[in-house]
Amino acid sequence: MPPAGPVSLATPVEDLPGVTPRRADLLRALGITNLGWLVAHLPTRFERVEPQAPISSIVPGRVVTAVGEVAATRPVRARRPRFEAVLTDGTGRLDVVWFNQVFLADKILPGMRLRVEGKASSRHGGVQMANPRWSIAPDEPPQPADGPHPEASASGEPAGSYLRPVYPASESLSSAEIRRIIARVLPLALPRIDDHLPPDFRSPRSFPELRDAYRMQHEPRDEDEAALSRRRLAYDELFFLQLGVHLKRAHLREALRAPALPISPALDAHIRARFPFPLTPAQDRVVREVAADLATTTPANRLIQGDVGSGKTFVAAYAMLQCVAAGHQASLMAPTEILAEQHAASLSRLLAGSRVRLALLTGSTPPTERASLLAALASGALDILVGTHALLTEGVVFKSLGVAVIDEQHRFGVHQRARLRATATDDRSTPHILVMTATPIPRTLGVTLFGDLDVSTIDQLPPGRSPVETRVFRGSLRDRVYAEVAARLAKGEQAYIVVPAIEGDDDPAGEAPARDTPLRDVRTVLAELEAGPLAGFRLAALHGRLARDTRDAVMERFRLGSIQALVATTVIEVGVDVPNATVIVIEQADRFGLAQLHQLRGRVGRGSIPSSCLLVADPATPEAELRLRAVASTTDGFALAETDFELRGPGELFGARQSGLPPFKVADLMRDRELLALARRDAAEWVRRSPRLDRPDEALLRRRLLKAYGPSLGLGDVG
Ligand code: ADP
Ligand code: MG
Repeated sequence: MPPAGPVSLATPVEDLPGVTPRRADLLRALGITNLGWLVAHLPTRFERVEPQAPISSIVPGRVVTAVGEVAATRPVRARRPRFEAVLTDGTGRLDVVWFNQVFLADKILPGMRLRVEGKASSRHGGVQMANPRWSIAPDEPPQPADGPHPEASASGEPAGSYLRPVYPASESLSSAEIRRIIARVLPLALPRIDDHLPPDFRSPRSFPELRDAYRMQHEPRDEDEAALSRRRLAYDELFFLQLGVHLKRAHLREALRAPALPISPALDAHIRARFPFPLTPAQDRVVREVAADLATTTPANRLIQGDVGSGKTFVAAYAMLQCVAAGHQASLMAPTEILAEQHAASLSRLLAGSRVRLALLTGSTPPTERASLLAALASGALDILVGTHALLTEGVVFKSLGVAVIDEQHRFGVHQRARLRATATDDRSTPHILVMTATPIPRTLGVTLFGDLDVSTIDQLPPGRSPVETRVFRGSLRDRVYAEVAARLAKGEQAYIVVPAIEGDDDPAGEAPARDTPLRDVRTVLAELEAGPLAGFRLAALHGRLARDTRDAVMERFRLGSIQALVATTVIEVGVDVPNATVIVIEQADRFGLAQLHQLRGRVGRGSIPSSCLLVADPATPEAELRLRAVASTTDGFALAETDFELRGPGELFGARQSGLPPFKVADLMRDRELLALARRDAAEWVRRSPRLDRPDEALLRRRLLKAYGPSLGLGDVG
């Protein structure tokens, strides 16, 4: 259908030439609604297509087009029904086979001239082609219908081999059809693509102009063009994200103010006196970094990363006390109720006898208690509020929130930080934000997702820790594992036994796809152990489906030692701290992610007795095997995070959904590390020169940035 008006990138697909209503529907099903999206539908790879070649010259492994006479045919109605044909062209013989297409016997007849296109393979010394595309060839060899792009074929030279893009397609719309549609409309689209990057920015980086980059993706003259244009488009994705992150950061630093929380030597000494231990040198360094941040009105936005057990809680406590001393309030948000309760308990111990008033708010806080707590919060009668996501709910208003600490960042996304900021009373003020994570973030990824955060690292464990020894056992050696546990319990030590399910068929770990092996569950394993290898010891179950009171009681009895071993799900993953627990068994360890295994292992090794982590698994995939081997080989969380990233990619590691950011279409964080570094430097420099992105020549860049990341990064308020 001819376009109704002038074509633009916003022209709907159904108004484009060559797009039938049916095709338009199929394109829309792929998320392609208009010309712009069509051009942005990039190939996932390229295949080199040889020109129509004499059969004798066909090289196995290449995609080729051949024309020949059908010398013989044979329908085979056997176990693998197929249709076979022999093609000859005077130079050689090509065996062609179409599986499951016996009906071709009615269409392809001996004596016809046939054109086939597909990947050649070698077979019985000759060449074969399986399931090629085919058409009946006219007598004169024509230009290849799906051949090189116009410029090349117009040149009059004999067409050489060429690169053909392969597009993401659907069952009903093939890559070839998409290719034909794009080839038809590309000349309409390219002149309308304006570049958001100026020439003097592009040329030192060897970036093609944007419209050329799209041309090179859809009609690459050679591999260099395909690579060059991919690099430009991948850069754009990375650059937009970095630009968004840096703009947001500049905005926070310039437009928003946080309360200044001064620190003096006297206050410093006063706070430290509350801690039962001297800070480790690493804690000390991070405390200084944080304290300096908080002392100014520039809102802090800092990530504190430290391996499990490195003592992040004291750093948070220090910051909160610095805040309270200055007459403001502080909050600490944890990802689970157990963890929030534990934080509240340990902070209360730290604050025993002081005038600091602390409360806990979670989803299970009774309404009346919640009401009086919120009133105290609004009036300033409360100094520190510890809680879960409940802190972000309607009605939670601080009189003056000075510091907001978020524990275990990987469970929270960019959104939550924005939401937290919004709890400030007016729109110009914000709390200082500290984010603590024990899941070390691979440097590459940290820079991408948390590029707006300053980073402090606690790279040292408190003294007196003995490293945890990790061993992997096959399921058949389970008896040996529990004999070891029994020996520990007999000596008065304690144990965790972690399994992937609560009862029967559920999969709270959610890590692995469903498999035939049934999941080991809390109920069954507890019964098994009580009746067998751990008979006579005091065991209990702990999982997320227990009532909060029951869970608290179990945890408390475990802490006191009256329960010797906990059979639990991953509810114990983060934060639980019982130094007398010296062994952790993880059943079906291949069902857990690498970061999760590392977290779980962090539950032991918290006292002076050497601890063990015993992984029981019969890994079903090589990847699971690698994961287990990685965990067993190092206790360095940073090294593991990098391995995890390499094995599973960023989406898996963080949960792309949790990050709240749109996924990249072109860029690949593993492969494009250097490009990412470049994009990051460029974005920082750009924002330094133009912190509001409001110069007239930046209008296009700005518009595209807001479209890509406005909602997810909360850029709406940037200028
Ligand atoms: P994480 O970084 O995993 O949150 P925690 O803050 O829970 O670590 O601390 C882990 C354990 O180490 C706790 O029992 C805590 O009391 C202890 N701890 C923290 N800092 C020190 C220190 N400087 N000296 C000795 N023990 C410490
Ligand atoms: Mg912690």
